[in-house]
Amino acid sequence: MHPTRAVAWELGGSWPILDLGHPERGEGGGVERVLVSACLLGQRVRYDGEGFEPGDLLLRWQGEGRTLALCPEQAGGLAVPRPPAEIEGGQGGSVLAGDTRVITRSGADLSDAFIRGAEAALALCRREGVRMAVLKARSPSCGNRESYDGSFTGVRVSGQGVTAALLMREGVRVFNEQELEDAERYLQGLESLSG
Ligand code: SF4
Repeated sequence: MHPTRAVAWELGGSWPILDLGHPERGEGGGVERVLVSACLLGQRVRYDGEGFEPGDLLLRWQGEGRTLALCPEQAGGLAVPRPPAEIEGGQGGSVLAGDTRVITRSGADLSDAFIRGAEAALALCRREGVRMAVLKARSPSCGNRESYDGSFTGVRVSGQGVTAALLMREGVRVFNEQELEDAERYLQGLESLSG
């Protein structure tokens, strides 16, 4: 059992589970916090009801009380499981601007829920002073470099998911689960700057 605690956090009628780490190391306590996609910490919040087994680094960060787990899609009010979704054209920033939509294969428009989830992630980062995140690659919410193009044919384009786009725009440095060495170096740099 890792020394973490899970609390329910009310947002928009949904109750995503947040891992707030050691409560005694809260805001101002000196530990650099990292926002992490909840599915990367093993929470079964993906569209298909699955999660991913966290690797050594994320487990260590969790044990150090650094991780703040959030699923933006769940925070935005979407259920688990849910239909897979893609961004038309693959650009989360265009969804934020109202220029394009997040859709399911059957054409349902989930844009509002995705934007609510992105805003929840940003609010959490601001509240907790989070300066970096590790988010799931290629997700229409969390992807930081690539996204699917909205055709549901497996075509990837360069672009961010909706949450990643908002966090990056607001100055949060976003890594994915394949960039953990870079993420750790960045974290060490932040901590050395913070003294
Ligand atoms: S990739 Fe992001 S939105 Fe998708 S299940 Fe994981 S945390 Fe939730």
